[in-house]
Amino acid sequence: MAATKAAAFLGSQQCLPAKTGIAVPLSKGQLIRVINTHGKQVVDTWAFDSQDPTSHLSMEHTRASLLKISIGIGDTLVTNSRTPILTLVADTSPGVHDSLIAACDSHRYAQLGVKEYHVNCVDNLHEALKALGTSIRSVPSPLNLFMNVPVAGDGSLSFAEPVCEAGQSCTLRAETDLILVMSACPQDVTPVNGGACADIHFTVT
Ligand SMILES: [Zn+2]
Repeated sequence: MAATKAAAFLGSQQCLPAKTGIAVPLSKGQLIRVINTHGKQVVDTWAFDSQDPTSHLSMEHTRASLLKISIGIGDTLVTNSRTPILTLVADTSPGVHDSLIAACDSHRYAQLGVKEYHVNCVDNLHEALKALGTSIRSVPSPLNLFMNVPVAGDGSLSFAEPVCEAGQSCTLRAETDLILVMSACPQDVTPVNGGACADIHFTVT
């Protein structure tokens, strides 16, 4: 079933509208190019094993494997079982991505003073998986493509706007059959998306 749905995304460029999420099945060896169409949009990214979603991309296991907090071209990211799941095969951006920060959720916006419901990456993740007929019980930390979280010499962190420019992209290769979920982060309270949430585009080959 996943293979059939994967075919629906093959070839032509797809749009992921601002503030929304999507689940994209990928077969082992397929590539997904994630294009920062307008340049300042963060893309929260998860990957789940097609056969067993409890095996998923794990940033803490990836940091232990790579012995660094950022990813570069050629780096293979691993699951919570320490098996390869994604490789960054190309990156035309300056290479600033985040592996530390949790996805935004309803609690985050409440703490930021937002009184009404605010769309968020965690809900986007659950809705995207539901659209494929699957679900998860706990939310892994995402790979935050294009997110700029400067780490100071004393270990302190800050939220800054992406250093990426319009049209720059990252290409990830699936190292197993998986479901990739992307959320065009709807964070518009802090400056992580450059102050305006935007569409992104992607291609699967
Ligand atoms: Zn978010």
